[in-house]
Amino acid sequence: MNINDLTKGTAVSTAGPQGAKQVSARPKPGSGRTGRRLVVISNRAPIEVVGEGSSQTTRRTVGGVAATFVRLLGNSGGLWIAWSGGQTAQRLTMPSHKANLTVLLLGLTDREVTHYYHGLCNRALWPLMHLNPQRCHFDGIDWTHYQRVNSSFAHLAAAETVTQDTVWVQDYHLALVPSMLRELRAGSTIGLFWHVPFPPEPVFRIFPWRTELLRGMLGADLIGFHTRSYTEEFLTACERLLRLEVDRQAGVVMVNERQVAVRAFPLGVAARDFADLAASERVRQRALEIQQAVGTPRIILGVDRLDYTKGIPERLLAFEQFLERNSEYHGRVAMIQIAVPSRERVPAYEQLRCRVEELVGRILGSFSTDGWVPLRYLHTRLDQEHLIAYYRAAEVALLTPLRDGMNLVAKEYVASRVDDDGVLVLSEFAGAAEELTEALLVNPYDIEAIALRLKQALEMPAGLRAETMRAMRAKVNQSTLDRWGEAFVAALNESACRADRAFADAAGR
Ligand code: UDP
Repeated sequence: MNINDLTKGTAVSTAGPQGAKQVSARPKPGSGRTGRRLVVISNRAPIEVVGEGSSQTTRRTVGGVAATFVRLLGNSGGLWIAWSGGQTAQRLTMPSHKANLTVLLLGLTDREVTHYYHGLCNRALWPLMHLNPQRCHFDGIDWTHYQRVNSSFAHLAAAETVTQDTVWVQDYHLALVPSMLRELRAGSTIGLFWHVPFPPEPVFRIFPWRTELLRGMLGADLIGFHTRSYTEEFLTACERLLRLEVDRQAGVVMVNERQVAVRAFPLGVAARDFADLAASERVRQRALEIQQAVGTPRIILGVDRLDYTKGIPERLLAFEQFLERNSEYHGRVAMIQIAVPSRERVPAYEQLRCRVEELVGRILGSFSTDGWVPLRYLHTRLDQEHLIAYYRAAEVALLTPLRDGMNLVAKEYVASRVDDDGVLVLSEFAGAAEELTEALLVNPYDIEAIALRLKQALEMPAGLRAETMRAMRAKVNQSTLDRWGEAFVAALNESACRADRAFADAAGR
């Protein structure tokens, strides 16, 4: 089930200027499995409102992870706080399987969006976290707005929650919310999940507000990263920049009297949903149509947002080199690159688009023949079913980000290969590489190495292909998206219980 299923055709309750029904965000005592209500805080909202007045409905706005949050929130009549995507604030209810959940949308001014979102988030923290200091743009006014917006989120959360709630903050957009919320409401249970990589300390150090950012994050009881290495980098930054005591074995940072747990929670995909769709007749048919349209027996697939962290130009150069050096593959293989439009207001993304289009044109000009188009470039976002048809149609997934928190596409490709076929060539700098060790790993900066890996992938014997794909599928089926969410919330509630016990012990002394 996804958010579309939950909200399709559902009238929403709003408490806006229209004066529609108010929805209480206070928890029912003892609601939910743990008796704690879950509150998720993220920059992007899971839904947007479409239509007017009584015919208003909600529509899903963000990817698969949102569906997991909705399921978790639906266990406890939870609350989701996010930016509305515009200037207006809104309060909505979403029906869910057990209890309705409330979505509270915060409005931001154009100036806040410019400096907080396009400025500090997209032009400072994003490149910094992805090891790209040359692209970082540090501006005091961006930081001021970042603090201001984080403070608005924290104040709203403090007003709408009680101490017994479990608050789960998402990502680098809201790194200061944990400490700001703790300041406003001591004794809160707060978790933070970092959806992007965390850089090595010498790179993180260049951030002008590095100590403030770390202190903001450390307001949480539990901080989660995708991988063990990001966890290690974060602990090192706490040690070196804040001189805090760190227990690496236990994954704990001591902040005054408080213990902050720091652990890896690798994000998974809804493997069953991908497998079911991949096995459906509709998707199989669509995959066949794609293969027929491409017209070569073998397809190589790249799928990414059009982002400079994804290594798309390097991958295209590698494909060009592969074609130059392996003429026997001419007419027999074609590459499809799906590039999802992204952050088009940021100049670096515009430049990237030009570079990618130039390379696509060059490859097509150099190698196309009357009967063969070696490369197809789709600058678009496909729906899930269509994307899975591409996953099934492609013999090789060539996913070579220069740095990527996880790379869900890699896991989705594996989950969709219900035929136990297909080869994954994966960047060693994607978080997924720490789990999918059976993939053909490659250094995404090394164009020659990518070209060689591609050849190796195309020449891998069928038996080995099946064996490695089965091994990877077992991992992806084991570590699913729902399990990720449940494991994080369980660990967070556990830390709340520990804090309660410590409080009770202190009171009894
Ligand atoms: N995706 C999609 N349509 C597309 C291409 C990608 O829905 O045409 C989805 C894909 O299924 C995946 C997400 O976008 O869930 C990309 O996640 P990933 O972790 O690979 O990269 P991100 O964009 O988060 O950096």
